[in-house]
Amino acid sequence: MSKKNKNLGTPNVPNDHPRAESLHYRHKLVDLMFEKVVTPSGLCAHGRGEAFDYLLGEKTIPPSEKAMEAAIASLLLAKHPVFSINGNVAALVPESIVELAEVLDADIEINIFYQAPGRIEAITSILKKAGAKKILGLGDVEPTSLPNISSNRRIVDPRGIFSADVVLVPLEDGDRTEALKSIGKYVITIDLNPVSRTALYSDITIVDNIIRCLPLMVEYARELKGTPPEELLKMVETFDNEKNLVDSMELMRTRLGYLSKDIGARRQKIQPGANE
Ligand code: ATP
Repeated sequence: MSKKNKNLGTPNVPNDHPRAESLHYRHKLVDLMFEKVVTPSGLCAHGRGEAFDYLLGEKTIPPSEKAMEAAIASLLLAKHPVFSINGNVAALVPESIVELAEVLDADIEINIFYQAPGRIEAITSILKKAGAKKILGLGDVEPTSLPNISSNRRIVDPRGIFSADVVLVPLEDGDRTEALKSIGKYVITIDLNPVSRTALYSDITIVDNIIRCLPLMVEYARELKGTPPEELLKMVETFDNEKNLVDSMELMRTRLGYLSKDIGARRQKIQPGANE
């Protein structure tokens, strides 16, 4: 995350720590694991994301902004846009998810892999506190199954991603993304790993940290709302996900090159005399 010293108010994380913001979110996820919102496996997934974020320089890159614009355009053109929310998403960006759904008139559906008594309720409570009025996936109607997937990731709300035309599935597993594509959904994801199966299967992949990109997506949504449909369609049609993924990886490669050249200077700064 950004290196600015914000007053994050996280116990045991001094605000002047160079990685204060990243540590703040780690603590948040750990706390919410004890409240059942996040699972241990969700913590590992976050760690995988953080590793890729390091390669991005922990900032939003131009290809991701391009993907965000196309994503918002396609969500504005959708007849029935639905966001699929898991524990990590609810823990990291509850307010922005609710705000984005409101601006885009999208439905929110909770979809979790690890079921545990009280978990859905804990995630629901976070989303409601963030202002969500309508939440799908609560088991109040008979669930249905996505085809072409055997795990319990197939179980969904018939009113949610199952009947959507455009779905936003951030931090998603490849199996469900593949199943959604197999039944013709237009899939948008947010995934820091540009080579995950989800990143590759999706129609639009935003390679960015969800913590940074969701507030930006809200801005794009407010800005593009009211844009003529032909213009929105042009934004979607001219977007090339494959090229965008390659561009993102290219930027990671460039940064790795820069870091490898800079390693001596950085060691010297941290540990004077290290190179003597
Ligand atoms: P796949 O099944 O698609 O190949 P995977 O096995 O990594 O990928 P999961 O672990 O279920 O799938 O998905 C988590 C994905 O979310 C990972 O690719 C990880 O890089 C990404 N991720 C984790 N935290 C964040 C975050 N804060 N912002 C954006 N992406 C994230």
